Amino acid sequence: MTGTSRKTNNPSLTQLKIPRKRVLSALARGVADLYCPDLPILPEQIAKASGLTFNYGNYEDYFDGMLEHIAGDFHIYMNLDKSLQNSTRSRFTFAHELGHYFIDEHRIALEAGLTPSHPSYTNFQSENIIEKEADYFASCLLMPENRFKADCNRKPFGPELINSLTQKYNVSATAFLLRYVHSEQVPLMVICSKKGKISWRWESDDFEFKYLKSVKGSIPGVSVTAEFYKNGTEYTVPQNDLYAEDWFNYTDHEPNTFRLKEFCIYAKKQGMVLTMLWY
Ligand SMILES: [Zn+2]
Repeated sequence: MTGTSRKTNNPSLTQLKIPRKRVLSALARGVADLYCPDLPILPEQIAKASGLTFNYGNYEDYFDGMLEHIAGDFHIYMNLDKSLQNSTRSRFTFAHELGHYFIDEHRIALEAGLTPSHPSYTNFQSENIIEKEADYFASCLLMPENRFKADCNRKPFGPELINSLTQKYNVSATAFLLRYVHSEQVPLMVICSKKGKISWRWESDDFEFKYLKSVKGSIPGVSVTAEFYKNGTEYTVPQNDLYAEDWFNYTDHEPNTFRLKEFCIYAKKQGMVLTMLWY
């Protein structure tokens, strides 16, 4: 094995715990079923029905969305300089702000003045547990548990499923993956990288490999993702000739026996690659 195992790759510190995920998913499902029994989920409709006000404006780089509380009233600011109204990104940001309202602890902190407002960034890089909770709530609101599970049931993970469900739920691939990785369908890791460096990662609770074979945050050299960064090679279908040891330092399996599938979404506009590893 080459590469070094760095403890900084340990993801468990700020991951949401399973019981908390269940609470957030059930809460989001309840809100979705009450206000939007049909698809797609409309965050603006949920806000109106809940007595929240909102506006879209040009706020440069300050935030994607923000929830503000003044004297009992809540208002959501949406930043058009970050995303167009009704785009998948904007829908996710709006759902995230609704999370800060519907999650009791978040709303109570705002009402108590403990936090003046919640400026939020839709880039999934925050290590703040509050932001992770609102992101997870957003994914569960836009893709409610009962409907999402029925749509995923017995369907193999891969590009076809991603395409059909991102369209059905009107969400980005990133939002879909955040929902899917926590839906206990298949052991899956999702890695976002830019210029060959890992920005963030998510993995399902049953994904057993934890320590990336990554030096200083780089993508491991023997991988589909690395091929793109080295040669610009793009695959349109999942590759299944990867070994787990190409990506991970691990101890419980014999080397060269455990295979992974790897598939990438090349989001060139955002300059990022979404890598999916599963088995
Ligand atoms: Zn937030």
